[in-house]
Amino acid sequence: MKFSSFPLDDRLQRAVAAVGYSKATPVQEAAIPPALEGRDLIGTAQTGTGKTAAFVLPILQSLLTTPARRKGVRALIVTPTRELAEQIHEAVRELGRFTKIRSATVYGGVGFEPQTRALRNGTEIIIACPGRLLDHLGRGNADLRGAEIVVLDEADRMLDMGFLPDVRRIVSQTPRERQTMLFSATFAPELSRLAADILRHPQRIEIGVSAPADTVEHTLCPVDQREKTALLLRLLEETDTGSVLVFTRTKHRADRLAAQVKRSGYRTAVLHSNRTQNQRQQALDGFRSGRYELLVATDIAARGLDIATVSHVINYDMPGTVDDYIHRIGRTGRAERRGEALTLVTADDCATVRDIERVLGGAIGVRRVEGFDYGMPTVPIANGASRGPRTPTSYRSRPKGPSYGGRKSNRRHPAAGLQLARTPMATG
Ligand code: AMP
Repeated sequence: MKFSSFPLDDRLQRAVAAVGYSKATPVQEAAIPPALEGRDLIGTAQTGTGKTAAFVLPILQSLLTTPARRKGVRALIVTPTRELAEQIHEAVRELGRFTKIRSATVYGGVGFEPQTRALRNGTEIIIACPGRLLDHLGRGNADLRGAEIVVLDEADRMLDMGFLPDVRRIVSQTPRERQTMLFSATFAPELSRLAADILRHPQRIEIGVSAPADTVEHTLCPVDQREKTALLLRLLEETDTGSVLVFTRTKHRADRLAAQVKRSGYRTAVLHSNRTQNQRQQALDGFRSGRYELLVATDIAARGLDIATVSHVINYDMPGTVDDYIHRIGRTGRAERRGEALTLVTADDCATVRDIERVLGGAIGVRRVEGFDYGMPTVPIANGASRGPRTPTSYRSRPKGPSYGGRKSNRRHPAAGLQLARTPMATG
């Protein structure tokens, strides 16, 4: 569907053309028409699907075509992290470039003063993280009584981070007569309750519910915990990579790994929540511009980040949940580009691998690096836990070709699809 078929103001049509979108993505096709009619939305669209423009364009259209009910904030977008707030702000600026609509970000870790000024000067769109917005509301710097549209983005992450009570408090300060859009990758009971409380007859949008983009090739790399860094370096040497995003389980492991790969000559930055806002911005900007070829990050820091050119996501540590896996690899293979997700797996990761494969609908291919010293003789194990039933249909329903199930050269365990390197020590 072409953007020109949406009844958007000419200034928005021109901006869409200027940023280079021609066809709407599926989530935009599903969300923009009801959002333009003023309906509430509840969406399970994953990041990388064009979700941001799907809510930003209807907001801009509404602000351009309806008079303000009162002075102050007219649209509020609440999001869990500063990086996401900046990213959404960038989309608002780009798509609103031919309008006079003003927007500002509100998040912690930076000074109050510029935010206070923006809020008091009558900014129409606020993109905010919950804690700092509540601070401003408490100080009387912001007034949400004129908010006509409220968007809650990445609500599942806000739940994980304990922001839900803050979010409820914020929403309670907006008028009852408003349009509300809620986006979340998953819906835990708390989120379903929130949705029931704040949405009115919402239009449901379910795009790519839990399955990641088909433009990503998934591969498992079995390894012993102690050999992870050595294997990572070999993988980097042997793989034709562009920008590589590496995930670790903890901030400490991110720092340590970043230092190790830096010593091996890779231009590396690190992103986690103990870094200052300046350091985080500098890492992201440098990674986006290509100054850094590797970015080592933790889950929360990298959630939802839009970095268009990530060629490889490497899970140095297995993510805790399937959801985190989907979010991590959502950083590559974006907007029809091809991407690769390599996951280092140890014997302890069997259960998570099985869960991920169930969501993907088939076994993930395994890559073993020729000549790499895996330390000890590997003892192949069929997955510790038994695999869920796999019907031929579940295979057929997946896209065919090398983009799924890993590299052509990958070896597959005949029974389990996975062969883990397990040392006698690790098992004993
Ligand atoms: P998002 O899911 O909102 O983070 O968007 C992911 C990426 O897709 C961003 O870089 C957007 O600029 C890009 N994008 C959004 N909509 C379109 C579109 N209709 N055509 C091409 N790229 C798009």
